[in-house]
Amino acid sequence: MLQGLSFEVFPPNTTIGVNKLTQTLKELQQLQPAFISVTCSNGTNHVADTTVKVASYIHQELHIPTIAHLPATYLSKEEVDEVLQQLDQLGIHQVLALRGDILTDVVPKADFKYADELTRYIKEQAPQFQLTGACYPEMHPESSSRITDIQNLKKKVDAGCTQLITQLFLDNELFYRFQESCYLAGIDVPILAGIMPIVNRNQALRLLKTTQTQLPRKFLAILEKYEHNPIALRDAGLAYAVDQIVDLVTQDVSGIHLYTMNDAQIAQRIVENTHSLFGENKVRVG
Ligand code: FAD
Repeated sequence: MLQGLSFEVFPPNTTIGVNKLTQTLKELQQLQPAFISVTCSNGTNHVADTTVKVASYIHQELHIPTIAHLPATYLSKEEVDEVLQQLDQLGIHQVLALRGDILTDVVPKADFKYADELTRYIKEQAPQFQLTGACYPEMHPESSSRITDIQNLKKKVDAGCTQLITQLFLDNELFYRFQESCYLAGIDVPILAGIMPIVNRNQALRLLKTTQTQLPRKFLAILEKYEHNPIALRDAGLAYAVDQIVDLVTQDVSGIHLYTMNDAQIAQRIVENTHSLFGENKVRVG
């Protein structure tokens, strides 16, 4: 069943950024998302001042369900317990259980090597939490094959993830193939499609450099044509994302998770063009 449209935001690291995010969140609230998830930097021991604080604002002030991201390779069991306790006290019971990216300059703690270990741990220690996992339609870059990737994803679901959110992708066909592989592997939880509207040249270049996301011909043509016309590139990038969403919703995707990049205008433009697709099925999780 379609779970509606949800958003991702990230905690800013300056006071100006915090004030701006508060305003952004108020604007996002008007769009009535199913939930808003809050990212967390891997390797940070300031989860309480960043992710938990933003999630608390979303939950307590805006009354929107929230999911706190929790990458745990660099956290001990005691540190995870502490974060869970803070969330529990705030009445937030949804966590995106992550391993997190490997940092070259920080030594990992030994407690959680992979996300399935964190998932199992939380399920055992704090069963009141609902757990979401990350997944990769184009395969996680460290996986040796698509089969291994799906087998490891299944471990995460078997450990207790009841929902998955994908890495961004620009080619819906890759998502449909991935969805089918999950189905064949017995992964039967909702898979929310992660969509990031690409609205400027730097963002596109960063994407090319840092992810293995395949850029379809249609998308490359937009980049090439509007490289030096920022307004047209923004319009075309938004239209591309809307096109992806329309196709996904008509193919009965479980939900759309929009990577907002903390820009409420982008989310507004997307909602303006798709709200009737979600209207009847606006279901809040949590
Ligand atoms: P895992 O599920 O542990 O997988 C990592 C690799 O190990 C994969 O190749 C997998 O196949 C393999 N593997 C998994 N389990 C096993 C096992 N039991 N045995 C052997 N191999 C195994 N990062 C952040 O730092 N902060 C965030 O807030 C954040 N939010 C994200 C949100 C979404 C929706 C997504 C898709 C990613 C997010 N990331 C975030 C990035 C993520 O942390 C990285 O992609 C990271 O490299 C993998 O994390 P994971 O939880 O998917 O890892």
